[in-house]
Amino acid sequence: MSKAVTQNSCSYCTPLGASLAFKGIENTITMLHGSQGCATYMRRFLISHFREPIDIASSSFTEETAIFGGGQNLHLGLDNLSSQYEPELIAVASTCLSETIGDDLNMHISEYKKKKAGQPIPEIIAVSTPSYKGSHIEGFYIAVTELVKHFSEGKSSPTGPVNLFPGMVSCEDLRYLKSVLHAFNVPYIMVPDYSETLEGGNWKNHHPIPPGGTPVRALARTGIARGSIEFGQVIDKKQSAATYLAEKRGVPAAMIPIPIGIHCSDIFFKTLEEISGTSLPTEFRQTRGRLVDAYGDAHKYVFGKRAIIYGEDDFVLSIASFLLEIGMQLAVCGGSGRGVGFKDKLVDLVQANDGEMPIIYEGSDFKEVELAAMQKGGDIFVGNSKGYKISRSFDIPLVRIGFPIHDRVGGQRIHHLGYKGTLYLLDLITNEIIRTKQSLSSVAYSYI
Ligand code: SF4
Repeated sequence: MSKAVTQNSCSYCTPLGASLAFKGIENTITMLHGSQGCATYMRRFLISHFREPIDIASSSFTEETAIFGGGQNLHLGLDNLSSQYEPELIAVASTCLSETIGDDLNMHISEYKKKKAGQPIPEIIAVSTPSYKGSHIEGFYIAVTELVKHFSEGKSSPTGPVNLFPGMVSCEDLRYLKSVLHAFNVPYIMVPDYSETLEGGNWKNHHPIPPGGTPVRALARTGIARGSIEFGQVIDKKQSAATYLAEKRGVPAAMIPIPIGIHCSDIFFKTLEEISGTSLPTEFRQTRGRLVDAYGDAHKYVFGKRAIIYGEDDFVLSIASFLLEIGMQLAVCGGSGRGVGFKDKLVDLVQANDGEMPIIYEGSDFKEVELAAMQKGGDIFVGNSKGYKISRSFDIPLVRIGFPIHDRVGGQRIHHLGYKGTLYLLDLITNEIIRTKQSLSSVAYSYI
């Protein structure tokens, strides 16, 4: 049955995802073409997760602009950003309002460039991100793809770097991925990289644009890469940077699951072995061994427990794979986006593991998750902090992972990826299950 309304969406607005991706490009400032409220909402949302100051500019539509178009505002905004931030790149994302009135962003930008001919101006790129056509994760992918479309040059070379498109993962995950690529001793370009811009240290002097991020000049070299790895099994090919580079620049693309759990991490490390010609370094082999051992340790606590999971489609797929690996069952799976083949992949995964078939939602909202949880029951919620209200109403514990985490600190430091990240998640989930059992017991067991 088709649904008439979304009551409490599990996904967020499209330019929010684009803004997050652009935060991972060095010396870049983002501008939203629309009204001020959009920029304020997105800043508030991102700041509450990353706990860092986040500047997002706005072309500040008024009633007049909404009728006659926002070209003038955009030009003035570009002037102001250029003089106040001195960026290398200004990334403009459209919003619902500018798209609804049909404002031609690319035309406004090309008029601006003509007006400024002969004068030094930053690079400017634009993405079309109306929220009624997508979710935050799609905005993120659209932004990354536009970056490589705009900047990549040349053709794939076997001696070129490795492109890594990690998708929307935590700052800690990005730092981990860099350390992995370093250990494999392979030159790489990771797009985006907000590990420092959104979780930097203390500064003596204020930086209008936080240091860090993928250098703009590196984006050109994504075209000569020896191969691309993109985390995403259900990305729409039109929104896939790796697919674009494969088609236009001949860069071989590996679209692989987000590496959470042993199976998905094995795929990542195997791909890296093939692309780099280096065997798995000892430290990762050892961590894998510890993880297998830890699965055994945790088994008696987690086996048969039923999870309600939600989040971005690819995130849900990898978490589902991990939970099935450790012997848990899936009661409800809510994917927030419109991933291509999400439901089929999940069904295949559950069947391959002889699991209980969960209720699966695509493009879900929390009302659906709540109703499904009521029907199926469950022992634990696994997902971002926005599920807190439901978990509280059911009195079922919530393990906070993914994005956003608004009611705890440290969301940006959660390590989800690889054998090491999986170990952390395993401990987190197992201990929450133990904690619940312990607190419900009439005996204050100190061994459990
Ligand atoms: S109006 Fe659209 S772009 Fe602006 S905050 Fe709302 S959903 Fe996002």
